[in-house]
Amino acid sequence: MKRKAESNTNKSTTLSKSHWSAGLLKSMEDPECIVKEDDKIVVIKDKYPKAQFHYLVLPKENIHSIWQVKRNHQDLLTHMHDVAHGLVEKQTDHEFIIGYHAMPSMQRMHLHVISTDFNSPCLKTKYHWNSFTTPFFLHSSDVCRQLHEGGELIQISPGRCKDYLNTQLKCHKCTIQPKNMPDLKRHILTHIDKQKQ
Ligand SMILES: [Zn+2]
Ligand SMILES: [Zn+2]
Repeated sequence: MKRKAESNTNKSTTLSKSHWSAGLLKSMEDPECIVKEDDKIVVIKDKYPKAQFHYLVLPKENIHSIWQVKRNHQDLLTHMHDVAHGLVEKQTDHEFIIGYHAMPSMQRMHLHVISTDFNSPCLKTKYHWNSFTTPFFLHSSDVCRQLHEGGELIQISPGRCKDYLNTQLKCHKCTIQPKNMPDLKRHILTHIDKQKQ
């Protein structure tokens, strides 16, 4: 009963972004978008990258959401994790995080592989920021471990997801708490400049 209520809430979020969700499935079939493919997964570049590098790993199996994943998907999620790692392991001059959003906004489950510069004009809102820098972002290694150890994932309620997305802005690399997004975007550049020195 509880699970049903949650999936309904998720659906309303999905609908508001349906233009993008359709685009995601289209991109999976568009050779121009595909970075890598095998019999189980497709890797595409995120059409609205929120950092210098931003890929999505999608299963070919029609899994709507990370919350549908059960023990029998363990091999698939491990494979997605390994593919994600393989994509970025040679890019040693960039840091990456690999994970799922706790309240997915599209029709197909997808694993985000994103560099932590977050330097992109597409990263505009507090929600964008908090979706990668708070526990709303479920790290793939934790997801795989939970599945391996417990056979299922520890669900995060839609209410808690919203709380994470509404968290006060905070830099992901230091203790600075920027007042607004323009401030935050200026601030994170200072970390990128430091890296280059
Ligand atoms: Zn996502
Ligand atoms: Zn900082």
